[in-house]
Parts: sequence; structure tokens; C-alpha cells
Amino acid sequence: MSKKTQLNFKLVLLGDAAVGKSSCVERFVKNEFFEFQQPTIGAAFLTQTIPLEDYIVKFEIWDTAGQERYRSLAPMYYRGAAAALVVYDITDPDSFDGAKTWIQELQRQGAADIVIGLAGNKLDLSSQRKIDSKEAKSFADENGCIFYETSAKTGANVQEIFVAIAQKLPKNV
Ligand code: GDP
Repeated sequence: MSKKTQLNFKLVLLGDAAVGKSSCVERFVKNEFFEFQQPTIGAAFLTQTIPLEDYIVKFEIWDTAGQERYRSLAPMYYRGAAAALVVYDITDPDSFDGAKTWIQELQRQGAADIVIGLAGNKLDLSSQRKIDSKEAKSFADENGCIFYETSAKTGANVQEIFVAIAQKLPKNV
């Protein structure tokens, strides 16, 4: 594979409302953060490339609004997705339950070789933490997911989780 080869992958964001999905994308793509992130209307589509050693991964990122409320539409969003980033908020147990449900659904109905990342976001609020990181890590390990705790606010581990997903994607597409 030549050094410049670029491989395109669809990546979808899933998770409860207000866990920081758009903020993680914003941080990853533009290196910005907003305390008052505008809710996404419809589906926001952004791209970002990650240069790996032998090739370049280009993510086509689908940050979907309303998937929290209109779950029946979700299969439409993740159809054809090579990767999913499932986000929860470490201060919100309901959002962790939501993330688990998403991961189970993706494993049943997503692409057979879908690469799933689980992000425990709002790590900067760890003094209000409700979800133990070891518990989340074991859930991720049992389900073959990449796991990081992230903060879109400080930027902690945001790039890292996208890079880890990129590295795990199949190269033979
Ligand atoms: P989404 O609905 O999942 O896309 O969530 P948003 O990205 O719209 O974020 C919801 C709210 O949480 C906004 O007020 C963000 O500023 C805030 N937020 C997002 N990520 C973080 C984070 O890592 N730390 C903190 N403290 N707040 C965050």
C-alpha cells in the first residue's frame, strides 16, 4: 500500500442526548469546545483525516440529532458504518445504560466487523463521577470495544479514541 493511500470510513456517533457527542466531534475536527453547544439539527456531517504510518484514514462522521428520541430511525444512520463512537457521560448512570444498549444493538444489527469505541465523556467532572471506570472498561473488553474516558472540554483522550478506532479498522477495503 503506498504511503498516500487514503481509505474512507463512515463513523456514526451514538448515545443519549447531552452526553457530549457533538462536542467530541467538534474537539476532534476543529479543536474547539463550547459550553453552550447548539443542539444538532438533522444530521451533521463532518470529515477528518488521521494519517497512520502506512495510509491515511478519512472519517466521514455522522453526528445524528434525534437518534436519542427516534430510536427506530437509528438503523438508517448506522447502516454501512465501519465504525461507531458510543458516548456516555461519566456523571450520568442512565447514559451508561443507554450506551450499553447501543453497543448491544450495533453488535446485533450493525456491520459484522464494525469497530466500536466507547467514550466515557466529561472526564473533567470526575469529582461528580457516577460510573466506575473499571466497570466501563470491563464492559468494553467483554464486548470487544475500544474504551477511553474523554473530555471534550479539556480535549483529554479525544484524539486518542479516534486514532485507536482508525488503527483497528480493516485495511482491505
Ligand atoms: P450531545 O447532545 O451528546 O451532542 O451533547 P453536546 O455536545 O451538545 O453537549 C451537551 C452539553 O455538555 C453542552 O453544554 C456541552 O458544552 C457539555 N459538554 C460536552 N462535553 C463536555 C465535557 O467533556 N465536559 C463538560 N464539563 N461538559 C461537556
